[in-house]
Amino acid sequence: MIKNNVENILNEIPESVELEAAAKTRTAEEIMEAIEAGVKIIGENYIKDVKNVYSQIGKKAKWHFIGTISTQKHDILKKKFLEIFDMIETVDSFETASQIDEKCRNIDKIMPVLIEINSGREPQKSGVMPEDAENVIKKISKLKNIKIMGLMTMGPRFGNPQDSRIYFKETKNLFEKIKQHSIPNVEMKYLSMGMTNSYKVAIEEGANIVRIGTKIFGERS
Ligand SMILES: *Cc1c(COP(=O)(O)O)cnc(C)c1O
Repeated sequence: MIKNNVENILNEIPESVELEAAAKTRTAEEIMEAIEAGVKIIGENYIKDVKNVYSQIGKKAKWHFIGTISTQKHDILKKKFLEIFDMIETVDSFETASQIDEKCRNIDKIMPVLIEINSGREPQKSGVMPEDAENVIKKISKLKNIKIMGLMTMGPRFGNPQDSRIYFKETKNLFEKIKQHSIPNVEMKYLSMGMTNSYKVAIEEGANIVRIGTKIFGERS
């Protein structure tokens, strides 16, 4: 099942778009099935899930952190997890970035990150407000052990994915604007947006990483 799901999605999306399997709560066996079917990036929200599955999978895929940093910062800043993650997609403040930077300096790693944009301007969600993004990015760009590689957004959740379009559009506009400003040490390469119900709209609006959970692994129990 997982194998078919991955193959169908890979056949459907353009080659320029990377499929990231959003793997929260899934077992190592499920994740391995997705990798064997062609998934190259695993996105995890919870450090406790990483603790459960990483040792069985290791570097068979790239690992992206896509969860809330503030509630798990203590774990994320540990050497072990900074070594595991190939990218942190949810950096949402200079303070967090500078803590990651400091810890990465100790292990001689330059951490690729995306800046999470709160495109819906939702008070309960994390992410930088769109109007603050460029200033925050300029500050973070000075950190030597962080490399900004693009933007990520969730956007508000809707039943109808068309309702997500304006949030994806705004994030893409921001992405292009920041790219044009050619900030040193900032490479606007990845735009991570779109989930099971919205990835098609997200790709139409310029996403080149889509984070898909349910459509790969089935409903979460
Ligand atoms: C769970 C999750 C996804 C995937 O959600 P689905 O609707 O199951 O595809 C994508 N991004 C983030 C940040 C998530 O937490």
